Amino acid sequence: MNKRIYLSPPHMSGEEQHYIAEAFATNWIAPLGPNVEEFERELAEYVGAKGALALSSGTAAIHLGLRLLGVGPGDTVFCSSLTFVASANPILYQGATPVFIDSEPETWNMSPGALERALRDAEAEGALPKAVVIVNLYGQSADMEPLLALCEKYGIPVLEDAAESLGATYKGKKSGTFGAFGVYSFNGNKIISTSGGGMLVSDDTEALEKARFWSTQARDAARHYQHSELGYNYRMSNILAGVGRGQLRVLDERIQARRAVFDRYVNALADVPGFAFMPEAESGFATRWLTALTVDPAQTGVSAAEIVDVLAEENIEARPVWKPLHLQPLFTGCKYYPHAEGHSVSDELFHNGICLPSGSSLTEEEQERVIQGIKRALKLYIETK
Ligand SMILES: *Cc1c(COP(=O)(O)O)cnc(C)c1O
Repeated sequence: MNKRIYLSPPHMSGEEQHYIAEAFATNWIAPLGPNVEEFERELAEYVGAKGALALSSGTAAIHLGLRLLGVGPGDTVFCSSLTFVASANPILYQGATPVFIDSEPETWNMSPGALERALRDAEAEGALPKAVVIVNLYGQSADMEPLLALCEKYGIPVLEDAAESLGATYKGKKSGTFGAFGVYSFNGNKIISTSGGGMLVSDDTEALEKARFWSTQARDAARHYQHSELGYNYRMSNILAGVGRGQLRVLDERIQARRAVFDRYVNALADVPGFAFMPEAESGFATRWLTALTVDPAQTGVSAAEIVDVLAEENIEARPVWKPLHLQPLFTGCKYYPHAEGHSVSDELFHNGICLPSGSSLTEEEQERVIQGIKRALKLYIETK
C-alpha cells in the first residue's frame, strides 16, 4: 500500500523544541507561564491587534467572543452557512438561535446580498441579531467592506471566525482583525498548529481581560475560592504555547508553501473542462490553507464524490467541501438566506466541491500521486459511462 497522504497534517519547524525545553527547564509546565504571554504578544503583533488571549481551542474563543458581545438566551446570531460546525455551536452554548447566511461565488464566503435581505427582514420583525459571525473559508477573507458596512448600518457587532485564514489579508489588513473580535485556531489541521488551541484577538483589551477571567473559572480576587460569575477552563497551557511560538516563526513560509501547492494543482489540472478552482478575490491575499475546487459532472462525467472515492482507494485523503450548516440535522428549522431567491451557492459548492491534500510538507512526488489519481478518476468514469 502507498504511504497515506493526508489532507492537512501538522508541520513542525523544529523551533518548537526550544520553547518546550525552556518550559521544562524552568518547570513552567503549569499554570500558564511566559510562553503563553509571549505567544499572545507575538500573535497580536503579527496580525496587528492590540491584544490576544490564548485558549484551549478556536471554539472556546468563539464562545467567549459571543459572550462578550452579550449573546444570550432568546437572541439570534447571524452566521455563515458554509463552514465547520464549530462556527455556530457556541451560539447554541449561549442559548441563542442561529440564522444562516449563504456564500457568494467570488470568495465562497458570506454573501452581502443575502446578509442585506436577512437584516432587512430582521428589522421589520423587530428582531435584529445580537451579532454576525463572518467566516473566512479555506484561507481567504470574506469581502469585508460591504459586509461591515451593512453591520454598521444596523449597529450589529461582528465576530470574525478566522480559524482558517491566519496570515491572509484583505485590502492589506490581516484577516481576523476586522470585527469587534477575531478568532484563530491551532487545531492539528490548521496552517500552524499547537496540536490543539485557539486565540481571541481584539483592540478592546478591557474586553479581553474579562474573557481571560472567564477562561480561568472566573475566580474572584479573594484569598479563598470565590465565584460570582460562570467561568470555564479554557486557557492554553504553557507547553502548547511554546509549540505555537515555534510555529509562528515559520507561518509566512507555510503560507508560501501552501500557495505553491495550489499553483501546482492549477498548472496540472486547470485545463480539465468542468474543473473550477476556488477564486482568489482581487481584494485579498489568500493563504490557500486548503486547495478547493468544484467539479461539474455534466462536463467531466465524474462527480466530486467519485473523485474522493478513487483517491481514497489510493490512500489519499481528499474531502468534500463543508456541508452547509442550514443542511445539518442539528440546525433543522433554523432560518436560511440564500445568495439570491431560489439560488443557494453553498448548496452547489457542497455538492460539487472537493478539498485536495494541501499540507505545507506535501512533497512534489506526493502531489504528483494526487494529480495522477485525479486523472485516473476522470478516465475511469469517462470509459465506463
Ligand atoms: C477549525 C475551525 C474552528 C474551530 O477551531 P478549533 O480550534 O478546532 O476549536 C472554527 N471555525 C472554523 C471555520 C474552523 O475551520
